[in-house]
Amino acid sequence: MDTDYAIIGGGVVGLSIAWGLLKRGKHVVVLDGEDGSFRASRGNFGLVWVQSKGLNQPRYAEWCQQSAAARRALADELGEVSGRSLGFEQDGGYDFHFSDESLEETVAKYEVLKTKLDGNYPFEVLGRNALRREEPEIGDAVVGAILHHQDGHVNPLHLLQALAQSVLRLGRKVLTGKTVTSVNNPSGFLVKCSEGEMVTADKVVLSAGLGAVDLGPMMGFRAPVSPLRGQNIITEKLPRFINRPSLYARQVNEGGVQIGVSTEKSGFDDGVTVDTLAAIAAKALEVYPCLKRAQVVRTWGALRIMSPDGLRIYQESRDMPGAFLVTCNSGVSLAAAHARFLPDWLEGADTAPDLEVFREDRFAF
Ligand SMILES: Cc1cc2nc3c(=O)[nH]c(=O)nc-3n(C[C@H](O)[C@H](O)[C@H](O)COP(=O)(O)OP(=O)(O)OC[C@H]3O[C@@H](n4cnc5c(N)ncnc54)[C@H](O)[C@@H]3O)c2cc1C
Repeated sequence: MDTDYAIIGGGVVGLSIAWGLLKRGKHVVVLDGEDGSFRASRGNFGLVWVQSKGLNQPRYAEWCQQSAAARRALADELGEVSGRSLGFEQDGGYDFHFSDESLEETVAKYEVLKTKLDGNYPFEVLGRNALRREEPEIGDAVVGAILHHQDGHVNPLHLLQALAQSVLRLGRKVLTGKTVTSVNNPSGFLVKCSEGEMVTADKVVLSAGLGAVDLGPMMGFRAPVSPLRGQNIITEKLPRFINRPSLYARQVNEGGVQIGVSTEKSGFDDGVTVDTLAAIAAKALEVYPCLKRAQVVRTWGALRIMSPDGLRIYQESRDMPGAFLVTCNSGVSLAAAHARFLPDWLEGADTAPDLEVFREDRFAF
């Protein structure tokens, strides 16, 4: 099978890139692993988030903003092609605070970043009364919030499904249950899968999440990513009472409240633990006390794909030019950037985004 691009990994990152390339008329084959693979795209919190990102790396903040700005158009086009709503809302999001000191400290950091971004960092501080006008169910423990106007959220499973359907509707190939075992480039790339499937491609994108740990070194990457678990809770469907999302809770388009998300080093264990679920539930109850009446219907754990500094990695291989590594821990937030702007970088176009600060060379090994 011959193609312009072989994309290894059919999570939100690989599919967003595939969609962007297809829209430019490129031929794409997506190879996605086994059912038991780790899939952050199926276990995440669904935030399309800008605030607090890139506090120490303004280019990252800008990249998230570019993605957020392109997000409505992506949601609309995927909704049209796939015929389903993504549950995307972009009416701002909250960073809640439980003490005046922490609110002031965070505001000071945001002001510094805002200056670095030439003023383009639209946030406002809501005291308790102002917040209660926006969110009548808010608990007394919350002293205030930062409302950032570029934030939003989406149904991540609908996003993933819409991406997969849209890629398929353009008549291209998404091969599932295909674990790539080797990539060689005698002339062009030869990508081999565990069951003998072979794809030849002009270029290869390695967007296999944690699968990059094994495949990366074969392609000349260090791929220094590791797992970081997050546990989630979802409640029964409830009448709408949360107007905007936060890191503690958000009400999804179907009515359930998603509560999260822990941050724990657990190796490759993506299970759940009662202690951690109790801790995230307790925090959510501080924010929205009325949740005490809600029934929990499901809990799950999933593994983030973390680089040593938590930022993205975009790197072309020195050993295999034409092979690219893309890994990130904000694949939902960056879906529009990956679909709209990353193809220019893969194509080496003059309009390619400047991704120099995201090279994996930044890490000392
Ligand atoms: C608990 C949690 C909460 C999160 N919350 C948010 C959030 O609110 N907002 C946000 O933007 N991001 C969030 N994230 C991060 C986001 O989910 C990830 O950045 C994103 O899903 C990564 O997508 P991916 O396609 O790179 O990886 P994955 O979804 O992990 O997909 C990788 C794919 O590669 C395939 N694969 C692996 N190895 C091979 C191989 N050898 N051959 C072929 N295929 C292979 C696998 O089968 C898999 O389908 C969260 C993550 C977690 C875990």
